[in-house]
Amino acid sequence: MRTLTRDIGAHEGKEVTLMGWVDVRRDHGKLIFIDIRDWTGLAQVVFIPKNKELHEKASELRSEWVIKLTGTVQRRPKGLENPKMASGSYEVTATGLEVSAKAVTPPLDVSSNGLDISEEVRMKYRYLDLRRPRMQKNLRNRARVFRFIRNHLASKNFVEIETPILSKSTPEGARDFLVPSRIHEGKFYALPQSPQQYKQLFMVAGMDRYYQFARCLRDEDSRGDRQPEFTQLDMEMSFVTREDVMAVNEELLITTVREMYPEKKIQEIPFPRITYKEAMEKYGTDRPDIRKDKNDPNLLAFCWVIDFPFFEKTEEGGWTFTHNPFSAPKPEHMEDLLAQRNIANILTTQYDIALNGFEVGGGSIRNHTSAGLKAVFNIMGFEDERIMRNFGHMLEAFDFGAPPHGGIAWGIDRFMMLMEGEANIREVIAFPKTGDGSDLMMDGPSEVSPEQLRDLHIKIVEKKK
Ligand code: ASP
Repeated sequence: MRTLTRDIGAHEGKEVTLMGWVDVRRDHGKLIFIDIRDWTGLAQVVFIPKNKELHEKASELRSEWVIKLTGTVQRRPKGLENPKMASGSYEVTATGLEVSAKAVTPPLDVSSNGLDISEEVRMKYRYLDLRRPRMQKNLRNRARVFRFIRNHLASKNFVEIETPILSKSTPEGARDFLVPSRIHEGKFYALPQSPQQYKQLFMVAGMDRYYQFARCLRDEDSRGDRQPEFTQLDMEMSFVTREDVMAVNEELLITTVREMYPEKKIQEIPFPRITYKEAMEKYGTDRPDIRKDKNDPNLLAFCWVIDFPFFEKTEEGGWTFTHNPFSAPKPEHMEDLLAQRNIANILTTQYDIALNGFEVGGGSIRNHTSAGLKAVFNIMGFEDERIMRNFGHMLEAFDFGAPPHGGIAWGIDRFMMLMEGEANIREVIAFPKTGDGSDLMMDGPSEVSPEQLRDLHIKIVEKKK
Protein backbone atom coordinates (compact mmCIF):
# COMPACT_ATOMS: atom_id res chain seq x y z
CA MET A 1 0.00 0.00 0.00
CA ARG A 2 1.10 3.52 -0.76
CA THR A 3 1.84 5.91 2.10
CA LEU A 4 1.13 9.62 1.65
CA THR A 5 4.08 11.91 2.34
CA ARG A 6 2.35 13.72 5.20
CA ASP A 7 1.84 10.39 7.02
CA ILE A 8 5.39 9.02 7.04
CA GLY A 9 5.86 9.99 10.70
CA ALA A 10 3.38 7.27 11.68
CA HIS A 11 5.73 4.67 10.18
CA GLU A 12 8.96 5.51 12.01
CA GLY A 13 11.44 2.65 11.73
CA LYS A 14 9.38 0.86 9.10
CA GLU A 15 9.47 0.57 5.35
CA VAL A 16 7.02 2.66 3.30
CA THR A 17 6.21 3.00 -0.38
CA LEU A 18 5.82 6.57 -1.66
CA MET A 19 4.46 7.54 -5.07
CA GLY A 20 4.63 10.95 -6.63
CA TRP A 21 6.73 13.47 -8.49
CA VAL A 22 10.35 14.46 -7.95
CA ASP A 23 10.12 18.01 -6.67
CA VAL A 24 13.87 18.66 -6.52
CA ARG A 25 17.06 16.64 -6.47
CA ARG A 26 20.06 17.84 -4.50
CA ASP A 27 23.39 16.12 -5.10
CA HIS A 28 25.69 16.41 -2.11
CA GLY A 29 28.43 14.27 -3.65
CA LYS A 30 28.03 11.17 -1.57
CA LEU A 31 24.47 11.73 -0.49
CA ILE A 32 21.67 12.41 -2.94
CA PHE A 33 18.53 14.02 -1.57
CA ILE A 34 15.23 14.24 -3.36
CA ASP A 35 11.96 15.75 -2.26
CA ILE A 36 9.09 13.58 -3.44
CA ARG A 37 5.77 15.38 -3.88
CA ASP A 38 2.23 14.10 -3.70
CA TRP A 39 -1.01 15.94 -3.04
CA THR A 40 -0.32 16.05 0.69
CA GLY A 41 3.05 17.76 0.42
CA LEU A 42 6.71 16.70 0.30
CA ALA A 43 8.92 14.11 1.93
CA GLN A 44 12.70 14.17 1.94
CA VAL A 45 14.35 11.01 0.68
CA VAL A 46 18.06 10.26 0.99
CA PHE A 47 20.09 7.86 -1.18
CA ILE A 48 23.32 6.65 0.45
CA PRO A 49 26.31 5.55 -1.64
CA LYS A 50 26.47 2.11 -0.01
CA ASN A 51 23.71 0.90 -2.30
CA LYS A 52 25.62 1.66 -5.50
CA GLU A 53 23.05 0.67 -8.11
CA LEU A 54 20.29 2.58 -6.38
CA HIS A 55 22.53 5.59 -5.87
CA GLU A 56 23.35 5.67 -9.59
CA LYS A 57 19.70 5.41 -10.51
CA ALA A 58 18.92 8.29 -8.19
CA SER A 59 21.58 10.47 -9.80
CA GLU A 60 19.58 10.32 -13.05
CA LEU A 61 16.35 11.59 -11.49
CA ARG A 62 15.08 14.95 -12.71
CA SER A 63 12.33 17.28 -11.52
CA GLU A 64 8.79 16.16 -12.35
CA TRP A 65 9.70 12.52 -13.03
CA VAL A 66 7.06 10.21 -11.59
CA ILE A 67 8.50 7.63 -9.24
CA LYS A 68 7.62 4.78 -6.94
CA LEU A 69 9.98 4.63 -4.03
CA THR A 70 10.50 2.36 -1.05
CA GLY A 71 12.50 3.27 1.98
CA THR A 72 12.68 3.26 5.76
CA VAL A 73 11.45 6.16 7.80
CA GLN A 74 13.56 7.74 10.48
CA ARG A 75 13.64 10.92 12.52
CA ARG A 76 15.85 13.61 11.08
CA PRO A 77 18.90 14.45 13.16
CA LYS A 78 18.37 17.26 15.68
CA GLY A 79 18.57 20.69 14.06
CA LEU A 80 17.89 19.34 10.57
CA GLU A 81 14.11 19.30 10.89
CA ASN A 82 12.12 21.38 8.41
CA PRO A 83 9.14 22.95 10.17
CA LYS A 84 7.73 24.11 6.81
CA MET A 85 7.06 20.52 5.72
CA ALA A 86 4.24 18.42 7.20
CA SER A 87 6.70 15.51 7.23
CA GLY A 88 9.65 17.74 8.17
CA SER A 89 10.71 15.87 11.33
CA TYR A 90 11.33 12.70 9.33
CA GLU A 91 13.15 11.49 6.27
CA VAL A 92 13.16 8.30 4.24
CA THR A 93 16.29 6.31 3.41
CA ALA A 94 15.70 4.80 0.00
CA THR A 95 15.79 1.04 -0.46
CA GLY A 96 14.18 0.83 -3.90
CA LEU A 97 13.28 3.09 -6.81
CA GLU A 98 11.13 2.65 -9.90
CA VAL A 99 10.67 5.34 -12.50
CA SER A 100 7.02 5.27 -13.60
CA ALA A 101 7.40 8.12 -16.10
CA LYS A 102 10.18 10.45 -17.15
CA ALA A 103 9.36 14.10 -17.76
CA VAL A 104 10.78 16.73 -20.06
CA THR A 105 11.78 19.98 -18.41
CA PRO A 106 8.55 21.78 -17.52
CA PRO A 107 8.02 25.20 -19.16
CA LEU A 108 7.14 26.73 -15.80
CA ASP A 109 8.18 26.35 -12.19
CA VAL A 110 5.50 24.37 -10.35
CA SER A 111 6.87 24.73 -6.83
CA SER A 112 6.58 28.53 -6.52
CA ASN A 113 3.28 30.32 -5.94
CA GLY A 114 3.28 31.05 -9.68
CA LEU A 115 2.03 34.60 -9.39
CA ASP A 116 4.95 36.04 -11.35
CA ILE A 117 4.62 33.58 -14.26
CA SER A 118 2.87 34.93 -17.35
CA GLU A 119 -0.79 34.09 -17.74
CA GLU A 120 -0.19 32.68 -21.25
CA VAL A 121 2.24 30.06 -19.97
CA ARG A 122 0.15 29.21 -16.91
CA MET A 123 -3.01 28.73 -18.97
CA LYS A 124 -1.39 26.83 -21.83
CA TYR A 125 0.10 24.34 -19.35
CA ARG A 126 -2.69 24.58 -16.82
CA TYR A 127 -2.35 20.89 -15.86
CA LEU A 128 1.20 21.71 -14.72
CA ASP A 129 0.17 25.00 -13.17
CA LEU A 130 -2.36 23.07 -11.05
CA ARG A 131 0.46 20.97 -9.59
CA ARG A 132 1.64 23.92 -7.53
CA PRO A 133 0.66 23.73 -3.84
CA ARG A 134 -1.29 27.01 -3.94
CA MET A 135 -3.55 25.77 -6.76
CA GLN A 136 -3.92 22.35 -5.12
CA LYS A 137 -5.05 24.12 -1.96
CA ASN A 138 -7.49 26.39 -3.79
CA LEU A 139 -9.19 23.57 -5.68
CA ARG A 140 -9.28 21.25 -2.68
CA ASN A 141 -10.73 23.97 -0.45
CA ARG A 142 -13.29 24.75 -3.13
CA ALA A 143 -14.35 21.10 -3.02
CA ARG A 144 -14.52 21.17 0.81
CA VAL A 145 -16.70 24.29 0.76
CA PHE A 146 -19.01 22.80 -1.90
CA ARG A 147 -19.37 19.62 0.17
CA PHE A 148 -20.12 21.62 3.31
CA ILE A 149 -22.78 23.67 1.52
CA ARG A 150 -24.34 20.54 0.02
CA ASN A 151 -24.62 18.90 3.45
CA HIS A 152 -25.98 22.06 5.05
CA LEU A 153 -28.63 22.59 2.39
CA ALA A 154 -29.63 18.92 2.39
CA SER A 155 -30.23 19.21 6.15
CA LYS A 156 -32.59 22.12 5.40
CA ASN A 157 -34.63 20.06 2.92
CA PHE A 158 -33.14 21.53 -0.24
CA VAL A 159 -33.14 19.25 -3.28
CA GLU A 160 -30.20 19.36 -5.69
CA ILE A 161 -31.53 19.34 -9.25
CA GLU A 162 -29.76 19.95 -12.52
CA THR A 163 -31.14 22.10 -15.30
CA PRO A 164 -30.41 22.02 -19.04
CA ILE A 165 -27.36 23.57 -20.65
CA LEU A 166 -29.00 23.63 -24.07
CA SER A 167 -31.67 26.18 -23.44
CA LYS A 168 -33.39 29.20 -24.89
CA SER A 169 -32.28 32.79 -25.09
CA THR A 170 -33.33 34.67 -21.93
CA PRO A 171 -33.19 38.36 -21.11
CA GLU A 172 -30.75 38.59 -18.20
CA GLY A 173 -28.86 41.60 -19.35
CA ALA A 174 -25.85 39.89 -20.95
CA ARG A 175 -25.23 38.53 -24.44
CA ASP A 176 -26.11 34.86 -24.96
CA PHE A 177 -23.78 32.16 -26.20
CA LEU A 178 -25.70 30.50 -29.02
CA VAL A 179 -25.57 26.90 -30.27
CA PRO A 180 -26.86 26.28 -33.78
CA SER A 181 -29.33 23.43 -34.16
CA ARG A 182 -28.57 20.77 -36.77
CA ILE A 183 -32.10 19.39 -36.78
CA HIS A 184 -33.91 22.73 -36.74
CA GLU A 185 -32.39 24.67 -39.57
CA GLY A 186 -31.78 28.33 -38.77
CA LYS A 187 -32.64 27.90 -35.08
CA PHE A 188 -30.39 28.22 -32.07
CA TYR A 189 -30.22 27.06 -28.50
CA ALA A 190 -28.81 29.50 -25.99
CA LEU A 191 -26.51 28.44 -23.17
CA PRO A 192 -28.08 29.51 -19.85
CA GLN A 193 -27.06 32.84 -18.33
CA SER A 194 -28.53 31.35 -15.16
CA PRO A 195 -31.18 28.71 -14.38
CA GLN A 196 -33.65 31.48 -13.42
CA GLN A 197 -36.70 30.28 -15.31
CA TYR A 198 -36.11 26.58 -14.69
CA LYS A 199 -35.77 27.08 -10.95
CA GLN A 200 -38.98 29.07 -10.81
CA LEU A 201 -40.69 26.29 -12.73
CA PHE A 202 -39.43 23.84 -10.06
CA MET A 203 -41.45 25.89 -7.58
CA VAL A 204 -44.54 25.60 -9.79
CA ALA A 205 -43.74 21.86 -9.87
CA GLY A 206 -43.90 21.67 -6.06
CA MET A 207 -40.19 20.93 -5.50
CA ASP A 208 -40.36 23.48 -2.64
CA ARG A 209 -36.62 24.06 -2.11
CA TYR A 210 -34.10 23.74 -4.93
CA TYR A 211 -30.38 24.32 -5.18
CA GLN A 212 -27.63 23.58 -7.63
CA PHE A 213 -24.04 24.49 -8.33
CA ALA A 214 -25.03 25.85 -11.71
CA ARG A 215 -22.74 26.66 -14.60
CA CYS A 216 -23.73 30.02 -16.10
CA LEU A 217 -22.59 31.36 -19.44
CA ARG A 218 -22.57 34.99 -20.47
CA ASP A 219 -20.83 36.25 -23.57
CA GLU A 220 -19.05 39.18 -21.99
CA ASP A 221 -15.45 40.22 -21.55
CA SER A 222 -13.45 38.60 -18.74
CA ARG A 223 -12.20 40.70 -15.88
CA GLY A 224 -10.51 39.91 -12.59
CA ASP A 225 -13.80 38.89 -11.01
CA ARG A 226 -15.65 37.82 -14.16
CA GLN A 227 -15.48 34.87 -16.53
CA PRO A 228 -17.68 34.05 -19.53
CA GLU A 229 -18.31 30.70 -17.84
CA PHE A 230 -18.78 30.71 -14.09
CA THR A 231 -20.51 28.87 -11.28
CA GLN A 232 -23.39 29.98 -9.13
CA LEU A 233 -24.72 28.45 -5.98
CA ASP A 234 -28.29 28.81 -7.19
CA MET A 235 -31.31 28.46 -4.87
CA GLU A 236 -35.06 28.91 -4.95
CA MET A 237 -37.63 28.44 -2.18
CA SER A 238 -41.43 28.32 -2.04
CA PHE A 239 -43.73 30.06 0.43
CA VAL A 240 -41.07 32.51 1.57
CA THR A 241 -40.70 36.21 2.15
CA ARG A 242 -37.60 38.29 1.57
CA GLU A 243 -36.69 37.85 5.25
CA ASP A 244 -36.79 34.04 4.95
CA VAL A 245 -34.42 33.87 1.99
CA MET A 246 -32.05 36.35 3.57
CA ALA A 247 -32.05 34.43 6.86
CA VAL A 248 -31.28 31.07 5.22
CA ASN A 249 -28.40 32.61 3.28
CA GLU A 250 -26.99 34.62 6.14
CA GLU A 251 -26.90 31.48 8.28
CA LEU A 252 -25.24 29.49 5.50
CA LEU A 253 -22.60 32.16 4.95
CA ILE A 254 -21.84 32.44 8.65
CA THR A 255 -21.58 28.68 9.26
CA THR A 256 -19.50 28.17 6.10
CA VAL A 257 -17.00 30.80 7.23
CA ARG A 258 -16.92 29.51 10.82
CA GLU A 259 -16.45 25.87 9.87
CA MET A 260 -14.24 26.19 6.82
CA TYR A 261 -12.27 29.36 7.61
CA PRO A 262 -12.11 29.63 11.43
CA GLU A 263 -9.23 32.12 11.18
CA LYS A 264 -11.52 34.66 9.53
CA LYS A 265 -13.62 37.17 11.41
CA ILE A 266 -17.01 38.43 10.31
CA GLN A 267 -17.19 42.15 11.08
CA GLU A 268 -20.85 42.36 12.00
CA ILE A 269 -23.61 39.82 12.69
CA PRO A 270 -26.46 40.10 11.79
CA PHE A 271 -25.19 41.46 8.49
CA PRO A 272 -25.95 45.18 8.24
CA ARG A 273 -28.54 46.22 5.68
CA ILE A 274 -28.00 49.23 3.48
CA THR A 275 -30.51 50.59 1.02
CA TYR A 276 -29.41 51.19 -2.53
CA LYS A 277 -29.95 54.92 -2.02
CA GLU A 278 -27.79 55.01 1.10
CA ALA A 279 -25.07 52.90 -0.55
CA MET A 280 -24.87 55.22 -3.53
CA GLU A 281 -24.88 58.35 -1.38
CA LYS A 282 -22.38 57.13 1.17
CA TYR A 283 -20.08 54.85 -0.84
CA GLY A 284 -20.84 55.72 -4.46
CA THR A 285 -21.36 52.03 -5.29
CA ASP A 286 -24.04 49.40 -4.77
CA ARG A 287 -21.46 46.90 -3.45
CA PRO A 288 -19.85 48.91 -0.68
CA ASP A 289 -16.69 47.86 1.08
CA ILE A 290 -17.61 48.55 4.70
CA ARG A 291 -14.52 47.02 6.30
CA LYS A 292 -13.35 48.99 9.32
CA ASP A 293 -9.78 47.80 8.77
CA LYS A 294 -8.83 47.22 5.16
CA ASN A 295 -5.36 45.91 6.10
CA ASP A 296 -6.72 42.83 7.85
CA PRO A 297 -6.84 39.97 5.29
CA ASN A 298 -9.02 37.91 7.64
CA LEU A 299 -11.77 40.49 8.05
CA LEU A 300 -15.02 39.75 6.22
CA ALA A 301 -17.49 42.62 6.05
CA PHE A 302 -20.73 41.24 4.66
CA CYS A 303 -23.68 43.53 4.08
CA TRP A 304 -27.03 43.29 2.37
CA VAL A 305 -28.00 45.91 -0.14
CA ILE A 306 -31.77 46.27 -0.55
CA ASP A 307 -34.49 48.50 -1.99
CA PHE A 308 -33.13 48.88 -5.49
CA PRO A 309 -35.23 50.68 -8.07
CA PHE A 310 -36.98 48.08 -10.26
CA PHE A 311 -36.58 50.00 -13.52
CA GLU A 312 -34.13 52.39 -15.08
CA LYS A 313 -34.32 54.49 -18.22
CA THR A 314 -32.83 53.15 -21.43
CA GLU A 315 -30.84 55.33 -23.80
CA GLU A 316 -33.83 55.35 -26.11
CA GLY A 317 -36.00 56.79 -23.34
CA GLY A 318 -37.90 53.60 -22.50
CA TRP A 319 -37.62 51.46 -19.34
CA THR A 320 -35.62 48.38 -18.58
CA PHE A 321 -35.15 46.30 -15.41
CA THR A 322 -32.15 47.03 -13.18
CA HIS A 323 -31.60 43.46 -11.92
CA ASN A 324 -34.04 40.73 -12.77
CA PRO A 325 -37.28 40.96 -14.76
CA PHE A 326 -38.72 38.03 -12.80
CA SER A 327 -38.57 39.89 -9.48
CA ALA A 328 -41.65 41.10 -7.65
CA PRO A 329 -41.83 44.71 -6.57
CA LYS A 330 -41.97 45.48 -2.86
CA PRO A 331 -45.54 44.63 -1.77
CA GLU A 332 -46.46 48.30 -1.33
CA HIS A 333 -45.47 48.94 -4.96
CA MET A 334 -47.42 46.09 -6.52
CA GLU A 335 -50.39 48.29 -7.30
CA ASP A 336 -48.20 50.76 -9.16
CA LEU A 337 -46.57 47.95 -11.12
CA LEU A 338 -49.91 46.48 -12.20
CA ALA A 339 -51.19 49.95 -13.11
CA GLN A 340 -47.83 50.80 -14.77
CA ARG A 341 -47.58 54.12 -12.98
CA ASN A 342 -44.91 55.90 -10.86
CA ILE A 343 -42.48 53.60 -12.62
CA ALA A 344 -39.33 55.39 -11.50
CA ASN A 345 -40.37 54.96 -7.85
CA ILE A 346 -41.18 51.26 -7.92
CA LEU A 347 -38.71 49.38 -5.72
CA THR A 348 -37.85 45.72 -6.30
CA THR A 349 -37.57 43.01 -3.64
CA GLN A 350 -33.98 42.43 -4.87
CA TYR A 351 -31.35 41.79 -2.18
CA ASP A 352 -27.64 41.68 -2.97
CA ILE A 353 -24.87 40.47 -0.68
CA ALA A 354 -21.70 42.51 -0.80
CA LEU A 355 -18.47 41.24 0.75
CA ASN A 356 -15.43 43.51 1.07
CA GLY A 357 -16.53 45.51 -1.95
CA PHE A 358 -17.53 42.57 -4.19
CA GLU A 359 -21.03 41.47 -5.07
CA VAL A 360 -21.06 37.82 -4.03
CA GLY A 361 -24.77 37.14 -4.40
CA GLY A 362 -28.13 38.47 -5.34
CA GLY A 363 -31.74 37.42 -5.58
CA SER A 364 -35.32 38.43 -5.06
CA ILE A 365 -38.87 37.44 -4.34
CA ARG A 366 -40.53 36.74 -7.68
CA ASN A 367 -43.71 37.73 -9.38
CA HIS A 368 -45.69 34.52 -9.11
CA THR A 369 -48.75 35.73 -11.00
CA SER A 370 -48.85 36.11 -14.75
CA ALA A 371 -50.34 39.61 -14.38
CA GLY A 372 -47.33 40.84 -12.39
CA LEU A 373 -44.77 39.38 -14.76
CA LYS A 374 -46.65 40.66 -17.79
CA ALA A 375 -46.77 44.17 -16.32
CA VAL A 376 -42.95 44.17 -16.06
CA PHE A 377 -42.59 43.39 -19.75
CA ASN A 378 -45.33 45.86 -20.67
CA ILE A 379 -43.44 48.60 -18.85
CA MET A 380 -40.37 47.61 -20.86
CA GLY A 381 -42.42 48.24 -23.99
CA PHE A 382 -42.81 44.61 -25.08
CA GLU A 383 -45.90 43.98 -27.23
CA ASP A 384 -48.18 41.19 -26.01
CA GLU A 385 -47.18 39.08 -28.98
CA ARG A 386 -43.49 39.30 -28.06
CA ILE A 387 -44.20 38.58 -24.39
CA MET A 388 -46.06 35.44 -25.39
CA ARG A 389 -43.33 34.39 -27.82
CA ASN A 390 -40.53 34.84 -25.26
CA PHE A 391 -42.23 34.10 -21.95
CA GLY A 392 -45.52 32.42 -22.83
CA HIS A 393 -44.34 29.28 -21.01
CA MET A 394 -43.77 31.23 -17.76
CA LEU A 395 -47.09 33.06 -17.91
CA GLU A 396 -48.89 29.83 -18.70
CA ALA A 397 -47.13 28.00 -15.85
CA PHE A 398 -48.10 30.70 -13.35
CA ASP A 399 -51.74 30.32 -14.35
CA PHE A 400 -51.65 26.73 -13.12
CA GLY A 401 -51.10 27.77 -9.51
CA ALA A 402 -47.64 29.01 -8.60
CA PRO A 403 -46.64 29.29 -4.93
CA PRO A 404 -45.16 32.58 -3.76
CA HIS A 405 -41.43 32.04 -4.14
CA GLY A 406 -38.03 33.65 -4.15
CA GLY A 407 -34.38 32.79 -4.35
CA ILE A 408 -30.84 33.88 -4.74
CA ALA A 409 -27.61 32.97 -6.48
CA TRP A 410 -24.10 33.33 -5.13
CA GLY A 411 -21.16 33.95 -7.40
CA ILE A 412 -19.32 31.06 -5.80
CA ASP A 413 -16.09 31.67 -7.73
CA ARG A 414 -15.94 35.19 -6.35
CA PHE A 415 -16.77 33.91 -2.87
CA MET A 416 -13.94 31.37 -3.09
CA MET A 417 -11.57 34.02 -4.43
CA LEU A 418 -12.20 36.15 -1.35
CA MET A 419 -12.00 33.21 1.07
CA GLU A 420 -8.67 32.10 -0.40
CA GLY A 421 -7.31 35.63 -0.40
CA GLU A 422 -6.79 35.62 -4.17
CA ALA A 423 -6.99 38.69 -6.40
CA ASN A 424 -8.54 36.93 -9.41
CA ILE A 425 -11.27 34.32 -9.85
CA ARG A 426 -9.03 32.44 -12.28
CA GLU A 427 -7.06 31.29 -9.23
CA VAL A 428 -10.03 29.28 -7.93
CA ILE A 429 -11.30 27.88 -11.26
CA ALA A 430 -9.61 24.77 -12.67
CA PHE A 431 -9.68 25.69 -16.35
CA PRO A 432 -10.58 29.35 -16.77
CA LYS A 433 -10.57 31.39 -19.95
CA THR A 434 -8.06 34.16 -20.59
CA GLY A 435 -9.03 37.82 -20.90
CA ASP A 436 -10.14 37.42 -24.52
CA GLY A 437 -12.21 34.30 -23.80
CA SER A 438 -9.66 31.77 -25.09
CA ASP A 439 -8.80 28.38 -23.70
CA LEU A 440 -5.07 28.35 -24.48
CA MET A 441 -4.62 24.76 -23.35
CA MET A 442 -7.28 23.25 -25.64
CA ASP A 443 -6.84 26.03 -28.19
CA GLY A 444 -10.49 27.01 -28.15
CA PRO A 445 -12.44 28.53 -29.73
CA SER A 446 -11.28 26.87 -32.95
CA GLU A 447 -12.32 26.58 -36.55
CA VAL A 448 -14.46 23.59 -37.48
CA SER A 449 -14.62 21.52 -40.64
CA PRO A 450 -16.72 22.56 -43.66
CA GLU A 451 -18.80 19.39 -43.09
CA GLN A 452 -19.64 20.45 -39.54
CA LEU A 453 -20.65 23.89 -40.75
CA ARG A 454 -22.77 22.39 -43.51
CA ASP A 455 -24.58 20.13 -41.04
CA LEU A 456 -25.39 23.21 -38.98
CA HIS A 457 -26.56 25.25 -41.97
CA ILE A 458 -23.91 27.84 -41.24
CA LYS A 459 -21.83 29.90 -43.60
CA ILE A 460 -18.96 32.02 -42.29
CA VAL A 461 -19.10 35.55 -43.66
CA GLU A 462 -15.94 37.53 -43.05
CA LYS A 463 -16.48 40.98 -41.59
CA LYS A 464 -15.67 43.75 -44.03
CA LYS A 465 -12.55 45.51 -42.82
N1 ASP B 1 -30.70 34.48 -11.58
C1 ASP B 1 -30.18 35.58 -10.83
C2 ASP B 1 -28.78 35.94 -11.32
O1 ASP B 1 -28.16 35.17 -12.02
C3 ASP B 1 -30.08 35.27 -9.37
C4 ASP B 1 -31.42 35.16 -8.72
O2 ASP B 1 -32.19 36.13 -8.71
O3 ASP B 1 -31.71 34.10 -8.14
O4 ASP B 1 -28.27 36.98 -10.98
